[in-house]
Amino acid sequence: MMRQREAGFFSVRLHVVGGRLSTDQVRAIQVAAECYGRGEVHLTARQGVEIPYVRAAYLSTIKDFLAPSGVGVGVCGPTVRTVTACQGCRVCPSGVIDAPELAEAVDREFYGKSAPHKFKVGISGCANNCLKAEENDIGIKGWVEPRWTRGPCSVCGICETVCPSKAVTVSAERGTVTVDPAGCIGCGDCIESCPSGAMEVGERGYRLYAGGKFGRIPFLGRRILGILRTPEEVVAAIRKVLEFYRAEGRQRERFGDTLHRTGFEALESHAAERTGEAT
Ligand code: SF4
Ligand code: SF4
Ligand code: SF4
Repeated sequence: MMRQREAGFFSVRLHVVGGRLSTDQVRAIQVAAECYGRGEVHLTARQGVEIPYVRAAYLSTIKDFLAPSGVGVGVCGPTVRTVTACQGCRVCPSGVIDAPELAEAVDREFYGKSAPHKFKVGISGCANNCLKAEENDIGIKGWVEPRWTRGPCSVCGICETVCPSKAVTVSAERGTVTVDPAGCIGCGDCIESCPSGAMEVGERGYRLYAGGKFGRIPFLGRRILGILRTPEEVVAAIRKVLEFYRAEGRQRERFGDTLHRTGFEALESHAAERTGEAT
């Protein structure tokens, strides 16, 4: 609930995970806005919905009204905020992970939990990064591993041309294609572009970024840990990240500021120690 500038009114923030609402939920929000607000909603910068112009007397009523539809009320203050996500691989042709499903899992585990300051998680379903992973305290991007097989390869060189990070080397002389794992960002362009099916999907996974924020003094999060393979590994890693933040973060210090003080390596050792993940 945000107290509005206009005395006596609140803007009621709703808990909308990954920007996803069923049509029943949309209808419930519509009726709530008409009955308890002024018939308008605001779509927030983080995929949320707010109902403005709600009088203090209606705050608990509107919450009770929305509860049966599964729409909860958002949190404020030093807590883990609603997780944002793109449509992911079930809808977007570029998607390599199910971003909304991961958002539900992460939100279920951490939403509203305490932290030294607000803590935001954003999930992009692929390297195109529409959800701007590096702007979040923890950002996640889908990742896909290209796997080359010699048999069907015509050594056409397309994969080398399309690779945005120059991670592919095609040798016409030797008839080989090599991918530099350190340079590969897991975008899958070489797989999509290969005309013969020689470049295939290997494994899929998740890349994590820590310490990003926007606002008054923005900075981009940095990549941490190796490739995580399952949603459970992602949840376990975030648990360790929050453990570190709670132990090292000062009150009202954003996570990125904590990391710039402690060094990102301290977080990596803490998380890797507990998850068994290589750094
Ligand atoms: S990040 Fe990737 S999967 Fe998500 S919407 Fe953008 S292109 Fe699609
Ligand atoms: S695009 Fe496919 S066929 Fe062409 S060189 Fe790369 S792997 Fe071989
Ligand atoms: S997945 Fe993307 S970054 Fe990796 S080798 Fe293929 S085109 Fe390059």
